[in-house]
Amino acid sequence: MKTLLAKLQLDSINLGACSGPKKWIDSGASPLTSCNPTTGAPIAQVIPADGAAYATVVASAEAAFKQWRSVPAPKRGDVVRDLGAILREFKEPLGELVSLEMGKIRAEGIGEVQEMIDICDFAVGLSRQLYGLTMHSERPAHRMYEQWHPLGPIGIITAFNFPVAVWSWNAALAAVCGDTMVWKPSELTPLCGVAVQHLANQVMADHQLTGIFTLAAGAGDIGQRMAEDQRLPLISFTGSIPTGRRVAQTVAGRLGRPLLELGGNNAIIVSDKAELDLAVRAIMFGAVGTAGQRCTSTRRIIAHAAIVDELTTRLVNAYRQTPIGDPLQPGVLMGPLATSRAVAAMLRAVERAVADGGVVLTGGVARPDLGPQFVEPTIIRMPAQTEIVREETFAPILYVMSYRSLDEAIALHNSVTQGLSSAIFTDSLREAEMFLSVAGSDCGIANVNIGTSGAEIGGAFGGEKDTGGGRESGSDAWKAYMRRQTNTINWSGELPLAQGIKFE
Ligand code: NAD
Repeated sequence: MKTLLAKLQLDSINLGACSGPKKWIDSGASPLTSCNPTTGAPIAQVIPADGAAYATVVASAEAAFKQWRSVPAPKRGDVVRDLGAILREFKEPLGELVSLEMGKIRAEGIGEVQEMIDICDFAVGLSRQLYGLTMHSERPAHRMYEQWHPLGPIGIITAFNFPVAVWSWNAALAAVCGDTMVWKPSELTPLCGVAVQHLANQVMADHQLTGIFTLAAGAGDIGQRMAEDQRLPLISFTGSIPTGRRVAQTVAGRLGRPLLELGGNNAIIVSDKAELDLAVRAIMFGAVGTAGQRCTSTRRIIAHAAIVDELTTRLVNAYRQTPIGDPLQPGVLMGPLATSRAVAAMLRAVERAVADGGVVLTGGVARPDLGPQFVEPTIIRMPAQTEIVREETFAPILYVMSYRSLDEAIALHNSVTQGLSSAIFTDSLREAEMFLSVAGSDCGIANVNIGTSGAEIGGAFGGEKDTGGGRESGSDAWKAYMRRQTNTINWSGELPLAQGIKFE
């Protein structure tokens, strides 16, 4: 472990506030202890930002913005290209740190760093494509167009379960858009934040820059400061619905721009016309992968009555063979939950589902023999979509319900408050198109014959309803990080007014 930490410039005690290369700040605040969820043992400590350190960090991002906004976007792209390059170089150790600190398996940890690299590549291309439209003016000898300007220093608050990728979805786009940024990683994964900041510092130093990428590690109090901070015109928040709701209200209260990526309660409809082999594999990855701790984890299966028994039998067989254990060990497919609170929440959810008439087909128990935060992946057959099924329990519980008509399945699918990711497995074109139609899935992501998790960075990522409506990553998500300006230029020598108004 020491060798891994050393490769990433991490020590047993690390500073968690940083305003640029060689500008780490010792706030003197009591340290956060980052624990290994596999064993419960401490990995290392991080001294979080306090009020004064936070003020220094924001001031530095604010000052840097004044320079950075005037750097041509393709030149800003050069910096992000180098960020991608250093991430390529450190892909393995950083991926392993994600695995060590968060508990996802090594392949997923490394996949998360690959996602950072992918978004950097995307952002480099984007740095030459921050297009605005031109419009035909209704007035003679007038030209109208729109342009996109950088927004300012922005705030990025992230969840524990994607401790590095979510930062990069925001950071790579924000940087090419000309914004500087302050990042507050989750208090459960502060080492990932510090490790990434070291890499970003190297890139900034190579370009004689400072204050573009900054860090203010800490708990909710730092997040709260950011939400209230008038100097941060955009707060990108990724996390649970209750916290996101609070953050959104605070940011909206000062008429700032919240970008929300909140919880999901993602379902897969499995039709009687589905290829079950594909469906089983997708459900396994979606529901068991990351121990059910992805925002896009598959939590509900709505299966046609004709195939529900066969599907559940196959799933139960696959679940029972899932290798659970140390996520850094080869062959393991499921690691621990993030905290012992999460284990307790899972066991409570199982109890509530059983009280509602649910039947536990497999799992439903903790595995203290493997470590304090291990559980068994769980399948519960539900007679109805009761209240507990409509909640997001951040754990590997899969609720199975059945349907007879596609209309009924879609109604069940949509009758939850969250709206992130969704999928249908079917070989019927009509069913697939119905699911994707306006009367189909109400989620931000809707897939056919692909599971709910594992999105590519090229598409806009995010969800509707209580998921918060934000979009990050690909497509035109970059627009959230810029301000649009409409320009009209009169080169006529007259002053015609719009709508033909005469004012004389
Ligand atoms: P969380 O809400 O507990 O914490 C998220 C972040 O908010 C942390 O950095 C935390 O310190 C901070 N925070 C806490 N109180 C705050 C406050 N008052 N003001 C500002 N910030 C505050 O969430 P979590 O347990 O870390 O993450 C799991 C949740 O995140 C799940 O609901 C999951 O679905 C969601 N999530 C969503 C996406 C997405 O893209 N939609 C991605 C990952 C995770």
